[in-house]
Amino acid sequence: MKAKLKARLKEKETEHLEIFKTLVRQKSISSRNEGVKECAKLLKSIMEDAGITTEIYDTPGQPVVYGELKGNHPDKPTILFYGHYDVQPPEPMEKWLSEPFEPTVREGRLYGRGTGDNKGQLLTHVLAVKAYLDLVGEVPVNVKFIFDGEEEIGSPNLEEFVRAHRDLLKTDVVLTSDGPLHDSGSPIIAFGVRGVMNFDFQINTANTDNHSGNKGGVIPNAIWEMVRFLSTMMDEKDRVLVEGFYDNVVEPTAYEKQLISDLPFNKEGIARSFGVEKILHDKERFYKRLLFLPTLTINGIEGGHIGPESKNIIPCEAKAKMEIRLVYDQDPEDLIQKIEEHMKSHDSRIILTRVSEDMRPSRTSSELEISQKIIEAVGKAFGEKPLIYPAMGGSLPDYVWTRVLGAPSIMVPYANADEANHAPNENMSLQCFYQGMESDIEIIEGLKK
Ligand SMILES: [Zn+2]
Repeated sequence: MKAKLKARLKEKETEHLEIFKTLVRQKSISSRNEGVKECAKLLKSIMEDAGITTEIYDTPGQPVVYGELKGNHPDKPTILFYGHYDVQPPEPMEKWLSEPFEPTVREGRLYGRGTGDNKGQLLTHVLAVKAYLDLVGEVPVNVKFIFDGEEEIGSPNLEEFVRAHRDLLKTDVVLTSDGPLHDSGSPIIAFGVRGVMNFDFQINTANTDNHSGNKGGVIPNAIWEMVRFLSTMMDEKDRVLVEGFYDNVVEPTAYEKQLISDLPFNKEGIARSFGVEKILHDKERFYKRLLFLPTLTINGIEGGHIGPESKNIIPCEAKAKMEIRLVYDQDPEDLIQKIEEHMKSHDSRIILTRVSEDMRPSRTSSELEISQKIIEAVGKAFGEKPLIYPAMGGSLPDYVWTRVLGAPSIMVPYANADEANHAPNENMSLQCFYQGMESDIEIIEGLKK
């Protein structure tokens, strides 16, 4: 059956490319509210043509496009595909070699805004399912689709939507294909993300800047006080000194440690690409710090006078912009409490203000049966062992699946490493596009057992 399905995909390559082009041609820039609703309608019609029952759900922002196959198999697992149909703005226009919304094939790639991120990738799911429906009349597992129109602006309405539609979305696994394959071309599977929270510190030591001669040595300097306070938070080994900061950090399991040791690690290459002289950690330490440990980062410090001329003042105010990347299973509220305790015991003049919404960390066990099935299926599809990231350093609203919906969530990117997402000349290699569909077929076949 797999061979027949794959042959069918091969036959339909030209047709699939036309569908891909049609979807890219429709602008859907969420940050400017340009064409997104029209794109939702177009996507719905593409899904309906494929035989998927599709509904557009309005949210306070852009619509969610939801699809499923009627006539489900109660004894078979359910897979929910997540993707997004909104895109980044195309600027700078002059850097594009062809029009961003006039998709063009050059050297085996489709160029256009939204090709790799994420229209081509979400279409792989739709078209793989279409191949089943055309050829077999049904898919051997239950399939659902949720396509977001606001991913590029941080999915502000996704959590609420999922909370309100838990039954509709009920699934055994959520699969997201976004982002690129590894630089080497190897497939990647990722099982979690770090969370992120942002806050500002501020200290005021007087109601005005003061003369540094007439008052120097007798009144406090806000910047010195801020620097002293900040230095109570971290030791020379970059260990955070806030009491209880690491309390809820879940250590990697033996299996996850094994996965880390299987990841590639080229110290010099990494240093070069990061623009640093050298990487100080060995492989185990590097990945543990990047994937399994939280950070406390100073994003910026502001205060006093900076300028070419001198200005002899004792500054009265200093600010620091702070960020925490949380790992599973740290909780933003709990961390803020611990930081407030630290402020109380070290400098009660410091004021903390929270900035923007927090994003919680999320992790799915790579040891689950369903995780293992997907690892195996992707390996078969690509003909090589995937690189398995038990977590990722960056942040995505993955907790919406793992915590709000309560389902395992697995990320399997299908775009080429040089997809130029968010940049001019964004593209998706057609080979990646077709291979994504084959990978979906392997996944579906792997799950049905
Ligand atoms: Zn993006």
